[in-house]
Amino acid sequence: MSETPQRSRATHEPERPDNRARAEIDLAALRANVRALRARVAPSGARVMGVVKADAYGHGAVPCARAALDAGAAWLGTATPYEALALRAAGIDAPVLCWLWTPGGPFRAAVDADVDIAVSGLWALDEVVAAARAAGRPARIQLKADTGLGRNGCLAGDWPRLVGEALKAQADGDVRVTGLWSHFACADEPGHPSIDAQLTRFHEMLEYAEKAGVEPEVRHMANSPATLTLPETHFDLVRTGVAMYGISPSPELGTPADFGLRPVMRLSADVASVKQAPQGLGISYGHHYVTDRETTLALVPLGYADGVPRHASGRGPVLLGGAVRTVAGRVAMDQFVLDLGDDTVEPGARAVLFGPGDDGEPTAEDWARAAGTIAYEIVTRVGARVPRVHLHERG
Ligand SMILES: *Cc1c(COP(=O)(O)O)cnc(C)c1O
Repeated sequence: MSETPQRSRATHEPERPDNRARAEIDLAALRANVRALRARVAPSGARVMGVVKADAYGHGAVPCARAALDAGAAWLGTATPYEALALRAAGIDAPVLCWLWTPGGPFRAAVDADVDIAVSGLWALDEVVAAARAAGRPARIQLKADTGLGRNGCLAGDWPRLVGEALKAQADGDVRVTGLWSHFACADEPGHPSIDAQLTRFHEMLEYAEKAGVEPEVRHMANSPATLTLPETHFDLVRTGVAMYGISPSPELGTPADFGLRPVMRLSADVASVKQAPQGLGISYGHHYVTDRETTLALVPLGYADGVPRHASGRGPVLLGGAVRTVAGRVAMDQFVLDLGDDTVEPGARAVLFGPGDDGEPTAEDWARAAGTIAYEIVTRVGARVPRVHLHERG
């Protein structure tokens, strides 16, 4: 006799999707980080935008967005339109700015959902105007200035035309210009000459637009490093991503604790097997590690499919059995090995790759160093196969 399904989910989905590993997300820490950032920008009179692009840097967009708003973030920011619309679909009605558009948008869906649309050029303005007409309501747009990042945004030479066309569309009732903004190239390198140059250029481009008649609700430029170290860049709003997740934008600027921040993500897995191995056993693909004596090996069921960087082969640090060990040999797609020497653990023992560091576990920064990258990438790349477990959802 077949069992009655307990829930309406597709029957091929198991009850517990994956319990070998988990990324625990401490939403109480995220809220405390948002409060710390608000306190830091309060003297400037600025508010905080919680940047939740890329699934909140791997932490889970919707729960993190809700926690950020609970803690007093005034805005949310996303890169792609889909990310912005997903917040609306989850019932989040706070102001959302979305900044990475390609022709085809979907601009109409964004207008209907009351998402602020970043506009860097005339093609986007044209598509927004058409979408607003179809929707029968003005689109909220924020003009983006390229003050020296050299990526998205409107260069100074093209600014008068874009501002002029946007004001025309505003006069026609098709758009409302709600923001003027820009983004830094080197805010994480204190004293870099581009910082002052970009700030000066932004002031000039703001002045031009405001004299022409733009009355923005918000002017903004600061990312996390600028928020933490450059008060003169705070304007009306700061766009904080990585700091909200308790990660320092750069180890040279300081540790998270130096800024009153606490890492939000803890990545761990349950050991899949433990075995005694003889001297001279080659470990994992390529045999880049060979046991130099009789020893105990533990298998950790996480690999590059889960976001563990293959570049950290032979280098990544992991807390297991009361000590920090180093990945032995290559990180494979689904697993890697730790050499425990004279120690041992039981199968099922918890291996912690990174976390806040309180219990002696490594941090995302330690993994960034081991892999030759930045901590932003370590948390953001944690794979979709790893369940996010959100802790302290209420608080
Ligand atoms: C990602 C991003 C941010 C946030 O940067 P952090 O350094 O993580 O604070 C801010 N603004 C824009 C335009 C971004 O793309």
